[in-house]
Amino acid sequence: MKAPPFAYIKAQTLAEVFELLDTHGDGARILAGGQSLLAALNLRLSSPRILIDITGIPGLSGITVKNGLVTIGALTSHAEVERSTPIADHLPLLAAAAPHIAHVAIRNVGTFGGSIALADPAAEWPACCLALDAIFVITGKTGSRKVSAREFFQALYTTAIGPAEVLTAIEIPLPAAGTRSAFVELTRRRGDYAIAGVAAVANSAEGVLSDVQLAFLGLHQTPVLAKCAMAEIEGRRLTQATIKSAVQALANDLDPSGDTYSTPATKLHLARVITGRALNALNA
Ligand SMILES: Cc1cc2nc3c(=O)[nH]c(=O)nc-3n(C[C@H](O)[C@H](O)[C@H](O)COP(=O)(O)OP(=O)(O)OC[C@H]3O[C@@H](n4cnc5c(N)ncnc54)[C@H](O)[C@@H]3O)c2cc1C
Repeated sequence: MKAPPFAYIKAQTLAEVFELLDTHGDGARILAGGQSLLAALNLRLSSPRILIDITGIPGLSGITVKNGLVTIGALTSHAEVERSTPIADHLPLLAAAAPHIAHVAIRNVGTFGGSIALADPAAEWPACCLALDAIFVITGKTGSRKVSAREFFQALYTTAIGPAEVLTAIEIPLPAAGTRSAFVELTRRRGDYAIAGVAAVANSAEGVLSDVQLAFLGLHQTPVLAKCAMAEIEGRRLTQATIKSAVQALANDLDPSGDTYSTPATKLHLARVITGRALNALNA
């Protein structure tokens, strides 16, 4: 199947994008890397009248470390994040998650912001951003506003980005000294979307964990924090007993829906398996 006919324009400025979004309303779609949008068009899951390509707009790409924040421009590709030295130094969770995203050819073109804006529940970046307490910079005609990851992912493929707005950057606070992280996911084949995955972050001081974050992907309609499991570990030493309590507590946090391959019970079991692996990795 091929995409239905559509008009295409390569915008040079954000102002041009906002004008086009105003003019075309629901008939317009922003095009970034196109790695999800073009597949949706080819499957005729979406039939916009016009695609607004934002890849020529200066200032929306790149990674900077300043004022206690790592800022990732929305158009930064998955591959740039994967290969970035500042990311490896400051946000090793992202470096660990990146190779799980699709395949190299897709990572070279797909963008960090596109993945966040799409909010696929099985995608890696949304769960990592939740675990890292990221802030999303959303820009519209009248200026920019900032939304925390906890507020941003609202429902299946639904985010806080308004119809005439563009996600322009992602800000992630520099983790405190002693922060550890682990990313674990299960897929049927390398490069597939996750059946279940977890992004784990915690601060470790003399073996005691604090600021524990366990964010899951592939289980709910949005990425989800496992607050009961997090509470089982917060302020404790990570012994096999605390890991077991956290793994058991997941039943209070997660109510996964099944999919083509896994029942809800299987998904919960897999979430427990990966949580055990992630917590043991934090301890290593
Ligand atoms: C075979 C295959 C396997 C894949 N596997 C994975 C995987 O394992 N994990 C994973 O996370 N992803 C996977 N992807 C998706 C890939 O990572 C995409 O690159 C990503 O989800 C979307 O980024 P994009 O830049 O390509 O966005 P696009 O496809 O251009 O856009 C996606 C959506 O976001 C909107 N959008 C894009 N950028 C912005 C912005 N800045 N502001 C507002 N709205 C915006 C678009 O309008 C569109 O609705 C896979 C894709 C393919 C084709």
